[in-house]
Amino acid sequence: YTAKTEKTAIERYDPARDPNTTRRLRLSGDLRRAIAAGEIQLWYQPKAELATGRIIGVEALARWRHERYGQVPPDEFVPLAEQSGSISALTWVVLEKAFAQKKDWERQGLALDMAVNISARSLLDADLLGRLQGLLSEYEIDPGGIILELTESSVMVDAERAEEVLEQIHQLGIRIAVDDFGTGYSSLSRLSRLSVSEIKIDKSFVSNMLSSKTEAIVVATIELARNLGQVVTAEGVEDRATWDRLLDLGCECVQGYYLSRPMPAAVATSWLLDMTRRRALRQPA
Ligand code: C2E
Ligand code: MG
Ligand code: MG
Ligand code: MG
Repeated sequence: YTAKTEKTAIERYDPARDPNTTRRLRLSGDLRRAIAAGEIQLWYQPKAELATGRIIGVEALARWRHERYGQVPPDEFVPLAEQSGSISALTWVVLEKAFAQKKDWERQGLALDMAVNISARSLLDADLLGRLQGLLSEYEIDPGGIILELTESSVMVDAERAEEVLEQIHQLGIRIAVDDFGTGYSSLSRLSRLSVSEIKIDKSFVSNMLSSKTEAIVVATIELARNLGQVVTAEGVEDRATWDRLLDLGCECVQGYYLSRPMPAAVATSWLLDMTRRRALRQPA
């Protein structure tokens, strides 16, 4: 094995014959059209307060069904949007839909936090603040009911600029959550300076915590959040035993398949109304 053989291997590689490249190229082009045509949907996954079981909010998750490839996961199309220059268009349609849905639920008596995932690129978009202000006034939404979820790595990329933008968002009254916590390389001192109100422990540490050492990471993160005065949410809670353990550990909020999978808007609406009615029956005023 020499450098020469390696070079030959690279020269022989023909991207047009690579099915993954074909898929990526096709998806990038189709994604742009799908965003413009309003084909990106939002599904909603509820979040509960552990101690009471009360549903306190939902997270909006983007969904795209491609005519040929079927459901394309956001873990695939969000990076594609970032690479192909359609991320800001995607972010705007997601924000617009999420705000409209929040307003619609408020009209039905459902007062729930709405969490929206924002990619690193969009965080650094000069239009972000103005757009958020515009949406808040267009839909007459209390900014305190909106949470923007940013991954740990995205707030660390251009850390100084991110710090500034997060502070401005905080000034608007919108809350910030650090998503997928534990998977990036945050500096803890930086994290303590950011205007963050919530930490979401990545599901890779939570879903198997009862049978692995990842419980130590969960415990440490709960402690860290408490010391920083931040809310802590565990994502990826898939069973009752994990739910109970998290309650013992003092975790505040949970999300995961055990509570509910993400649901299309109409299904989420019935689910949320049903949960609220059941609570009202159990707890007469
Ligand atoms: P995330 O924000 O960390 O969202 C949680 C992901 O975990 C979702 O996957 C959700 O369906 C899944 N999940 C929830 N509970 C469980 C569980 O109990 N077990 C397991 N195994 N998985 C669970 P999804 O919807 O495929 O989204 C993947 C990622 O794509 C999201 O991770 C987020 O980073 C990104 N994403 C989704 N929608 C958007 C969007 O509108 N904009 C941006 N920028 N990113 C988005
Ligand atoms: Mg998220
Ligand atoms: Mg996450
Ligand atoms: Mg994720």
